[in-house]
Amino acid sequence: MKKIGVLSLQGDVSEHVSSMEKAVEKMELDAFVEAVSSEERLRDVDALVIPGGESTTLGKLIHMYGLAEVIMDLVKRDKPVMGTCAGMILLASRVEDNKYALDLMDVEVERNAFGRQRESFEKDISIKGFRGKYHAVFIRAPAIKRTWGVCELMAEVGGRGVMAKQGNLIVLSFHPELVHDTRVQELFLGLLD
Ligand code: GLN
Repeated sequence: MKKIGVLSLQGDVSEHVSSMEKAVEKMELDAFVEAVSSEERLRDVDALVIPGGESTTLGKLIHMYGLAEVIMDLVKRDKPVMGTCAGMILLASRVEDNKYALDLMDVEVERNAFGRQRESFEKDISIKGFRGKYHAVFIRAPAIKRTWGVCELMAEVGGRGVMAKQGNLIVLSFHPELVHDTRVQELFLGLLD
């Protein structure tokens, strides 16, 4: 049975757990979803979600609890990892002001690229490979300024990148755990070996 971990240090963990459980059920996978925060439990996940929140705080906690190495190791072992919002900032290799970024994905990210909290918005966007629009929720969202290497841009809003995929890594500016649509979670779970 596969174990899908949701990093549980800060942010909207329970929403991620329940939306991922919904996708697991829909796909009839032999898997379970668990909120994980200790090094020990993180080490044996088969896939990991890094939720949104506040990227500096989240980054600090990841380093404080010695989890950076474990996350880097999961990526090295080709486990699917998805970062949403603050999670995207942490997986990026270039970010202006987050010294805790893990440098795992070939994207340059700009924090709060769409403005502050009151500029949060929802929009129907097109995602590469998805049939029909996807209703995306953006909260103090970062944007992808550029990608390189084999990293592929999957969606954009007003000329700014909002989703990218590089092998088994997926990053999103928006919050897939806040909508009923589970296509993003299904794309992610489809990467499990
Ligand atoms: N703007 C936040 C940051 O830079 C991220 C927002 C979010 O995760 N919803 O950390």
